[in-house]
Amino acid sequence: MPDPSNETEAQPSEPSAAVDAEMMQTAEEVAKDEEPSGPKRIAVIFAHPDDAEFTCAGTVARWVAEGHEVHYVQLTNGDKGSDDPVVTPEQLTATREAEQRAACAVLGVQQCHFLGHSDAMLVPDLALRCEIVRVIRQIRPDVVVCPDPTVRWVDQQYINHPDHRAAGEATLDAVYPAARDRMTFPELLAEGLEPHKVREVYLSGAKEPDVAIDISEYVDTKLAALRAHASQLGDWDPAPMVREWAQSTASHFDDVGEYAEAYKYFKLD
Ligand SMILES: [Zn+2]
Repeated sequence: MPDPSNETEAQPSEPSAAVDAEMMQTAEEVAKDEEPSGPKRIAVIFAHPDDAEFTCAGTVARWVAEGHEVHYVQLTNGDKGSDDPVVTPEQLTATREAEQRAACAVLGVQQCHFLGHSDAMLVPDLALRCEIVRVIRQIRPDVVVCPDPTVRWVDQQYINHPDHRAAGEATLDAVYPAARDRMTFPELLAEGLEPHKVREVYLSGAKEPDVAIDISEYVDTKLAALRAHASQLGDWDPAPMVREWAQSTASHFDDVGEYAEAYKYFKLD
């Protein structure tokens, strides 16, 4: 892998599928300035094993196919994700880590970083922010993907998991300004971790998405990665629901194919 300390030579390209016309304009304008070009390093930061597969794995598969380098950062170990009375949290942690590694192998994710917090206990405090800043300064991503922390519920049938909100809030707070600012978390400087500026952020599961990424060629890869989470799926076939979600998402945007994943997008100054 590229030398993570060599930030100035990281060569991000323009967003691969920021199909929104205004976003494309923004990308072109920035490209005229000093924006580097080339493969990007991307960090996908999420709460539980399988979260990324449900929300953004089609995008990940596309980015990997386009030559970008994707890292996963899994904040909790998923040790509450079973109703089986004979399974221990330790056994479940091991199972779910293996499943996440298998999903990453399907997608071509370079590395998965496991921060090991207990499932359902994630709190977006300064300690979590510091941990995420540490891993951002280690990976030195051009792009971060994380959950939209503003989603409290959806319609009348879904209360968003508090870990998802916590993951999004702590990650955004880590991206800006903590990872960028030299004086924040001096203990990280002492570890040799220099400040790092993330250039783009994609919020998954966003309440108000403004870009869509066409995953029509990658929906089967997304499903294959999702099926790696066998302990969570049981006999359930996720394909009809995942395809319906991706078709519905695509229907809200122009210039995408049959299947899409959508995000709230930021191009940071
Ligand atoms: Zn989750």
